[in-house]
Amino acid sequence: MGLEEKLPGGILLSTVELLAGYMRKASMWPATFGLACCAIEMMAVGTPDYDIARFGMERFSATPKQADLMIVAGRVSQKMAPIVRQVYDQMPGPKWVISMGVCASSGGMFNNYAIVQGVDHIVPVDVYLPGCPPRPEMLLNAIITLHEQIIRMPLGVNRERAAREAEAAALNATPTILMRGLLSDGPSAGGQA
Ligand code: SF4
Repeated sequence: MGLEEKLPGGILLSTVELLAGYMRKASMWPATFGLACCAIEMMAVGTPDYDIARFGMERFSATPKQADLMIVAGRVSQKMAPIVRQVYDQMPGPKWVISMGVCASSGGMFNNYAIVQGVDHIVPVDVYLPGCPPRPEMLLNAIITLHEQIIRMPLGVNRERAAREAEAAALNATPTILMRGLLSDGPSAGGQA
């Protein structure tokens, strides 16, 4: 537990949250990490056409210890899965993950035993980016979405409350197997079965 977990609630905490969120989103370095064809699109964001340097993020770290963003670009094979987790574990916290492309998010077209059916089986994912391959502009949009999340990141007692609410929502969610189609009678796909 770090110092930020001991911050008291109130107006002061909201100010500290905003300040910390702004500094964190403005000092984010991605890990150098590409797994398949999506990585080519990820590399394109470093070119002048897309210019990831506008966020100060053009420095992709060669060591996970100097990175706080993992962009999982491409399908994750079973063989690669422990290495993905090891790289994630070596990154200092707080850290974030973008799952780039349908393969990283769900296995995509590779519905087989060789490919992990979603990198969220291995690491927690903050933003899922659809597409095959997603365009570099889409990755920039995912980064902006993540920045918005980080700037609102709760600390201290607020974080604990947010974690409890997320846990309660997960426990109350309708299992996928009980979800119905949108045209069926009764509650829709997102409601109770
Ligand atoms: S989503 Fe498409 S481009 Fe990306 S790794 Fe899979 S097959 Fe390749």
